[in-house]
Amino acid sequence: MKRITALALCGTTLGAGTVHGQPSASALERGQLYVQVAERVSPGVHVLRQQRPNFAGVVGNVTVIEQGDGLVLVDAGASHGSGLRIVALVRAISPKPVKTVVITHWHGDHVMGLSAILAAWPNADVIAQEQAARDIATRLSALFPSAPSATYDHERAQALDAAYTDIEQNQAAQARTDAEREGWRATLGARDLRLADVPGTHLIPARRTFRDSLTLADTETPIELRHLGRANTSGDVVAWLPRQRVLVTGDIVVAPTPYMIQVFPSELSRTLERIRAYPFRVLVPGHGAPTRDRSYLDALQRLLRAVRTQVEPLARAGVPLDSIPARTRFDRERTAFAGSDTWLAYWFDLYGLTPLIESVYNEALGRPLGPAPVPPT
Ligand SMILES: [Zn+2]
Repeated sequence: MKRITALALCGTTLGAGTVHGQPSASALERGQLYVQVAERVSPGVHVLRQQRPNFAGVVGNVTVIEQGDGLVLVDAGASHGSGLRIVALVRAISPKPVKTVVITHWHGDHVMGLSAILAAWPNADVIAQEQAARDIATRLSALFPSAPSATYDHERAQALDAAYTDIEQNQAAQARTDAEREGWRATLGARDLRLADVPGTHLIPARRTFRDSLTLADTETPIELRHLGRANTSGDVVAWLPRQRVLVTGDIVVAPTPYMIQVFPSELSRTLERIRAYPFRVLVPGHGAPTRDRSYLDALQRLLRAVRTQVEPLARAGVPLDSIPARTRFDRERTAFAGSDTWLAYWFDLYGLTPLIESVYNEALGRPLGPAPVPPT
């Protein structure tokens, strides 16, 4: 069984882009699927997001919310370079300053653009749930420098370049379908942009934390931050705009295929129920397109139920984890998310199904969930 860690989502591994619809050849080659574009989802609310499913070089969605005396961002991009593009997009949306950045969870693709955002708006507050703040201070500080570092920039660029060469020579060369070939081509198209995004990337910790809830008051656009329970990570936060009925979920919900790496399966299911109960008009996922109905939430719940139904009895019967894939079938669930698209199916398996099976297996046996504790340095 192929194993990956949360590092895959911290910008330390690569993913790719595309498929539904036909991106132009030049867009694929110039890395256009990697960069974020702004989309208005409600008056005073915009989402900056990658235009197509982009599985290597992922950058978390950034939600830009206008309040009376300034802007609130939910999440901050994946690198200094992606943060610079976020700053430019935000300035094109509103002349108001960014006064607050809310971090939905600790993964680097939602945090590491803070260096550029705070360079533009140095007085902005940075808010995270208290466990997310601890994870940022320990897990991310083990991966990123605390100030700009030429050594880090050099080593990171070398590692990324080597990873792209590996994709070029191995994964892309072994692609079996047109969808996979196009996906890898889009991935490789982002190579130069991703390398250029590295310099200046450094970690900025949260400046304010909360445990269960925090309201960012405003007469027109109040924002209610809530920790609904563990789900994708131990410190997930959703942002609810009751007037606009917009709900921002972070990576508890990711579309078009889920990220299930080191999740907490039964708590994720309960948290998804709480998300479903919000009377939202627009749900903004952590990655992918905003949605206006509940069908995607239902598909996630069906996936969780199907995996638990098949995997839990096998785990309790002593079947080894590595034997589970051969003893289970999830064709219907794969088709529900990926259709006949082999590129999406590849990522559904890698980032969704395979890690979910592992977490469900561990939970059934009462083993620890989530990432391993960070060793003291
Ligand atoms: Zn993410």
